[in-house]
Amino acid sequence: MRRAISLVPRGTRPTASAVNSIVKNSPSFIMQNKDLLQILDLIDAGEVVPDLGIYSDLVRLCANCRLQEHARLVHAHFQRSHFTADVFLNNSFINMYCKCGAMAEAQQIFDGMLERDMVSWTALISGYSTSATPEKAISLFPRMLAGGFFPNAYTLASLVKACGAMANGPPVCTLHCFSVKYGLNSSVFVGSAMVDVYARQGRTDEARKLFLSLPAKNEVSWNALIAGFSREGDVDSAMESFVEMQRSSGFFKASHYTYSSMFVACARIGSLEQGKWVHAHLVKSGCTFTIFLGNTLLAMYAKSGAMDDARKLFQRLRNKDLVSWNTILTACAQHGLGREAGNLLKKMIEGGRRPNEVTFLAVLTASSRCGLLEQGEEFFKMMGNYEIAPRAEHYATMVDLLARAGLLLRAESFISEMPIKPTAAVWGALLGACRMHKNWKLGELAAMRALELDPLDSGVHMLLYNLYACCGRWAEAAGVRKKMKELGVKKEPACSWVEVGNSVHVFVADDDSHPQREEIQRLWQRLHEKIKDLGYAPDVDHVLLFMDEGERENRLQSHSERMALAFALLNLPPSAPIRIKKNIRVCGDCHVAFKLVSGVLNRDIIVRDTNRFHHFRSGGCSCGDYW
Ligand code: ZN
Ligand code: ZN
Repeated sequence: MRRAISLVPRGTRPTASAVNSIVKNSPSFIMQNKDLLQILDLIDAGEVVPDLGIYSDLVRLCANCRLQEHARLVHAHFQRSHFTADVFLNNSFINMYCKCGAMAEAQQIFDGMLERDMVSWTALISGYSTSATPEKAISLFPRMLAGGFFPNAYTLASLVKACGAMANGPPVCTLHCFSVKYGLNSSVFVGSAMVDVYARQGRTDEARKLFLSLPAKNEVSWNALIAGFSREGDVDSAMESFVEMQRSSGFFKASHYTYSSMFVACARIGSLEQGKWVHAHLVKSGCTFTIFLGNTLLAMYAKSGAMDDARKLFQRLRNKDLVSWNTILTACAQHGLGREAGNLLKKMIEGGRRPNEVTFLAVLTASSRCGLLEQGEEFFKMMGNYEIAPRAEHYATMVDLLARAGLLLRAESFISEMPIKPTAAVWGALLGACRMHKNWKLGELAAMRALELDPLDSGVHMLLYNLYACCGRWAEAAGVRKKMKELGVKKEPACSWVEVGNSVHVFVADDDSHPQREEIQRLWQRLHEKIKDLGYAPDVDHVLLFMDEGERENRLQSHSERMALAFALLNLPPSAPIRIKKNIRVCGDCHVAFKLVSGVLNRDIIVRDTNRFHHFRSGGCSCGDYW
């Protein structure tokens, strides 16, 4: 508040109105504890004659700062003064404490009030609705009605929010009945809150139904609905609503919030075409390009496999923040661009930006995916310079890096020296590398440790099964399957997605129901003959069933990624790149087949699995077979 004092002419006593106007103009974030103390000291020293207006302004400032100690200070000072609070000021105190998350104090003031009005009830209900105890908001409601007060739209919207935040709260539809009863059902405020709650609970069907029935809609209701679809990864519905929003409501423009929801949705399923369309729409709209929006756009390009577009956008982004850097570095990790990640990290540090644990996880993963052992070790050490304690994920990535480079024993001793308890993921990383290097003894040990921590982890069981199978230890492999059956461990069904035209098609392994099933099979047979000439021999290790060779070969042909590839080949224009997404790791045999197909047909094929991207081109893959 130094500014406050200098604004008062020298030698004159600052008046209440002078301080008052300064408090009003002072942006809340520059208000420090000591400034507040100074004002209170000025009052104590009699240099400022306080009035209720000053207290009211201070209370409002504290509510904006959301700092409990400020709130308590001002309140205590007021209690020592000769003033008594009227309803208006008491309501401000309740609001201030609610904003600062001090619900006990808010309740105390409320309880001590001799006279309460609608605002008092609504302030407290609203406070509880976003607190850790939303049920208290609900329990206040009948008391409020009993006291002869009717809810307004704000009260009802808060109650809806509270319902949404409770695990076993009353259904939101009961509040809908109240809104009808009190004539608030046409309030866009209440309607939007209800749509938002349904959408956040993942009940997008109900959100949509309610949304359609709303007599009035605004940006908030549209955005609540679109964000709900986006969170569920339902791009088609998000897109439909987005288009509908533009068409039906001439004066509601999509905001940066809407666009970022759209990019998040497209990124979720890796839908590049739709993402690009939304990007073009954004450019035309003239909507303010915030860094938050830029980061979601960046993630959309990166997660849809369009690394070139992501790079270009990243270079153009002004005011890059930590999230922008972490997004591009995570993209490098997913695309297996270890050196690029290393260079970017150096640039980031040179530019004066401080990396955090997400940054390091990204560069370590990128290093591990390319087998850049030295770089990975350097970055792992560097974490200490920034006083970042590695978490289990960082250790798991280091184990992965060491073990995949063939240093299995070093990886094992690295685990034994970890200062934190190794997680199942750490042991899983060792197990995965043991499968790669066909070391079943160490792999067995790693699997046992991982299963001690999580006996039902189907991934570990499957890896162990695969490890035994590829080492020819069929008896042990059979033992794993038996164990899985006993424990009821189920393998996650493999799924692949591919974008053709404006829709995304899903393929499930061994699914016979696809309408183009026969064409897909015929195409694979033809491709199979072609790549067999190039030396392709089906690697039946990757078929996890006991059956004869011929049958195992057939099984490979119905892997979901193969069906998706054939479907795309049948339905996409001849030179269009093919982008496939898979929910588990791409299998080794499909990897070999895809490389050959990319050469034979001269087609770019991009597969995103749970671990990374594979760019197949001219008979090779961007991962260099190191994955
Ligand atoms: Zn496969
Ligand atoms: Zn690959």
